[in-house]
Amino acid sequence: MSVPAFAIPGPAAAILERLESRGHEAWAVGGCVRDSLLGLSPHDWDLCTSATPEEMTAAFSGWPVIPTGLRHGTLTVRLEKQNWEVTTYRADGDYTDHRRPDSVRFVTRVEEDLSRRDFTVNAMAWHPVRGLLDPFGGAADLKARVLRCVGDPRRRFEEDALRILRGARFAARYGLTAEEATAAAIHQGRGELRRVAPERCMMELRRLLVAPGDRLGLVLRVFWDLLCVLPGLAYLREMPGYDQQNPHHDRDLMEHTLAAVVSVPPKEALRLAALLHDGGKPCCRTVDGKGVAHYYGHPKAGAGLANAALRRLRCENALRVKVVDLIERHDLWVPPTLPAARRWLGRLGEEALRDLLALQRGDTLGHAPDCQPPRLARLDQWEALVDQVLAEGDCFTLRDLAINGNDLLAAGFQAGPELGRALRHLLGEVQEGRLENDKAVLLDEARNYAGASQSPEHQ
Ligand code: ATP
Ligand code: MG
Repeated sequence: MSVPAFAIPGPAAAILERLESRGHEAWAVGGCVRDSLLGLSPHDWDLCTSATPEEMTAAFSGWPVIPTGLRHGTLTVRLEKQNWEVTTYRADGDYTDHRRPDSVRFVTRVEEDLSRRDFTVNAMAWHPVRGLLDPFGGAADLKARVLRCVGDPRRRFEEDALRILRGARFAARYGLTAEEATAAAIHQGRGELRRVAPERCMMELRRLLVAPGDRLGLVLRVFWDLLCVLPGLAYLREMPGYDQQNPHHDRDLMEHTLAAVVSVPPKEALRLAALLHDGGKPCCRTVDGKGVAHYYGHPKAGAGLANAALRRLRCENALRVKVVDLIERHDLWVPPTLPAARRWLGRLGEEALRDLLALQRGDTLGHAPDCQPPRLARLDQWEALVDQVLAEGDCFTLRDLAINGNDLLAAGFQAGPELGRALRHLLGEVQEGRLENDKAVLLDEARNYAGASQSPEHQ
């Protein structure tokens, strides 16, 4: 097949050139080759070489290098303010713990290094003069959009079960379909994921979830069973085939969830929240006299389950809190008014509020078609109101208020909780549109408020 132009960056080419001028062999390898063949621009260029760590050190004498990792064969060369990793050809030793090879062995043939890599599309090398080296047919698989293990899939997943999730990620990102033996081994070996460190699973899950929506939907449907073996996520097992028994829904819980996931923008917090937003439904189900199921309290229950799962997955706190808050609020339908927009902007900030609206839109797109238009119209109104408040520079936080604590102290107020209460009262009045955000007006009101709160009926 014809090979598209590879836009190898200058420093990477210089590193290859240097090694080869010293009598070694060197190639660009892995993700950068795959992405270049797809016409995408690689986010980094991994380089590999026949040179041993000592030979690399000698070859780059006088160059700015960082030797961390040299024991495992990796030297980092610093050129044009970027790090370039060069690794000695390696073959992995045994994988007795199913996650990391017990030892690495340096080898002399690049083919051997390629053979330890996970998928054919990741096991290609490229050189500016020698061109593509593709011993496992990765280019043809890429063209045919096939995900295929290098070697025996079952063995490869036994060695390192994280490859199972990596496979799902590459399938979703590039629209690949796992060939039969690879797909079977993914399902069969999924239990081994329990041996993989939770933070490694979490990292892969995050990468998987930001794949383009339509492809992600297909992959998650086929590999739903993988998600269910991840720490804390066993409760997702209830979703496939779960009849929601409610006129707002025409799909089972998994299909509803998938529709929500693929409809929200590819942002980690949003995709995770969409995936887990209805996890609380099964435990909150009640059925009324007409045979209709209700799920009162499911956002809170779902937030609790998501919180526990994300903790077990060692998800970083900031992301966990964002996801849990989104899930807890996903069913909150506040009537769209300007004061409400100011209030919610003040409470959540712009990003979290827009994320919430995006999650609600995604959730809505997973509802039965006739229930969607009124909800979508309400979300449009909400977006427009948020735009309006921001465009007009309206006041929605204490910081935006034309008066602050010091102004009140200067006007004779006492320091203490009363001061904060007065400021929050003023903010509320401005958000509701009952007061102008003007210093004199606010001072007047603060005095009235303080006077009123000291009168007997307010004590
Ligand atoms: P990305 O664009 O997401 O970085 P990548 O292909 O570069 O994709 P990396 O995780 O950076 O993925 O790994 C670089 C290369 O190392 C892969 O292309 C693959 O050849 C090899 N590799 C990485 N992890 C594994 C693994 N667990 N098992 C086998 N080979 C692996
Ligand atoms: Mg990479």
